[in-house]
Amino acid sequence: MTVTSDADLARLRANLGEVRERITVAARAAGREPAELTLIAVSKTWPAADVLTLHALGVTHFAENREQEAAPKVADVLSRLGAAGTPGAAGGLDAAGDEDMPGTAARLPKGAPLWHFVGQLQRNKANAVARWADWVQSVDRPELVTSLSRAAASRGRMIAVCVQVCLDTPGTTGRGGAAPGDVARMTDLVAEAPGLRLAGVMAVAPRGEPPQPAFARLRRVAEGVWRNHPEARVISAGMSGDLEAAVAEGATHLRIGTALFGERRPVP
Ligand SMILES: *Cc1c(COP(=O)(O)O)cnc(C)c1O
Repeated sequence: MTVTSDADLARLRANLGEVRERITVAARAAGREPAELTLIAVSKTWPAADVLTLHALGVTHFAENREQEAAPKVADVLSRLGAAGTPGAAGGLDAAGDEDMPGTAARLPKGAPLWHFVGQLQRNKANAVARWADWVQSVDRPELVTSLSRAAASRGRMIAVCVQVCLDTPGTTGRGGAAPGDVARMTDLVAEAPGLRLAGVMAVAPRGEPPQPAFARLRRVAEGVWRNHPEARVISAGMSGDLEAAVAEGATHLRIGTALFGERRPVP
């Protein structure tokens, strides 16, 4: 496993500075505080060394979209933090997953990386994802709630969940997510599920149309959720190309890959 080179450090530091600046400018333009916004670094296709570098630069939230890529990366990050003297982390993923404790965050010092799963989730992967994910943002059908709840509860974990909302025009090929009309039923299910905490909603802007009206639709869906679940305040929206539009429409969590790491590399 390679160590981050000076060039990688310089690249990540510069990119992080630019992303933070964009977030600050977008927040001010929307009359919001930059501190209301949580940056999630989407590290898919990038190595553990880059995660550790961004973590050392102050990023605490990371996201992955493929279980088979994420599991070894999360383990690698954990063991390297452990090797650096973090108590409890060196035991690795299996030991950690079976501990009678909720989530990575509870086992590591404040500020340790938190992991989000943001990819399409197959039911038979729910158990594997529940071993390492502190958050799952892509829950879009009832079977996933059941599987994830069972997996989290059996490990004594508490996983934060966002219901993914489909913002595509009905009838077009979508990018995943529950239809807006099904979101209330989904959020009720998550809120009642053992081992899961309803955090809020997530969406990806549809292709081929301006993002801001789509994010405005997401905001209205979120407002509907708050009637029954006022605590579920998360609106996860905004990627490298559309974070400003998301901030303007009330996003609380931004999922940024390319603008932080660079153009994605071929999947390892
Ligand atoms: C890859 C990905 C992102 C980040 O996209 P960028 O355009 O690289 O910033 C955000 N959300 C999801 C669900 C993704 O799969």
